[in-house]
Amino acid sequence: MSSTPALYVQALPCFTDNYIWLLETAAGRWVVDPGDAAPVLAVLAAGGPPLLGVLVTHRHADHIGGIPALLARHPVPVLGPAEAGNVISELLAGGESLTLPGLGRVEVIPVGAHTHGHLAYHLPDAGMLFCGDTLFSAGCGRLFDGTADDLQAALTRINALPAATRIYPTHEYTAANLRFAAVVEPANEDIRAHQLQVAAWRAKNSPSLPTTLALERLINPFLRVEQPSVVTAVRHHGEAEMSSTRDTLAALRAWKDIFAG
Ligand SMILES: [Zn+2]
Repeated sequence: MSSTPALYVQALPCFTDNYIWLLETAAGRWVVDPGDAAPVLAVLAAGGPPLLGVLVTHRHADHIGGIPALLARHPVPVLGPAEAGNVISELLAGGESLTLPGLGRVEVIPVGAHTHGHLAYHLPDAGMLFCGDTLFSAGCGRLFDGTADDLQAALTRINALPAATRIYPTHEYTAANLRFAAVVEPANEDIRAHQLQVAAWRAKNSPSLPTTLALERLINPFLRVEQPSVVTAVRHHGEAEMSSTRDTLAALRAWKDIFAG
């Protein structure tokens, strides 16, 4: 039995393809990665529970740019990594286990790869993961700072969570990622089926997110680098010698970087 109150999550679209995640309980609200203040301020102005705090995954402007304007109206704690600079009021390094008002237990997972200080927030009682630009549906974040070893470590930590975990990435990249996934694994029926599902959602302007870890294990090539189908495709595409899963992951990421689908 869980004592966690009901937690509702709403996607607030902003910019071209970002989502700000708004978490709401009866006690109050949190936002994850408010790159733009306007959509958050609009929701708060319409009434409802107060804003209790902000969670930041990493330093990129499309994740933190709205924080000063948000704080001007709603002075709340901002939790996140040092790399995000002086918008952070409560520094986190990864590895912390927090209890936050309204949210209950929050495990801070270090997933430095896209950026070196990147954090993910796992709510074990709600079965949710807010992972910024680390894992996307059917893809993963580009490596600005990290190496393939860092990416492997980050994805391994995420993949260790329960299969039913709902995953909330920050970008609507699913359709494009699935086009790449279908080239890597043309015989993967789960990828084909999910392409149809995502097309139907997007035609109604509905988010393709959240996803689940169980689904990502079926359709996301970056979580499937031990599958013979993925290893064979990467080997045929590149000339790099691959002697490990890490090598496959590195070559797959490099292939995706130049993929024009
Ligand atoms: Zn980013």
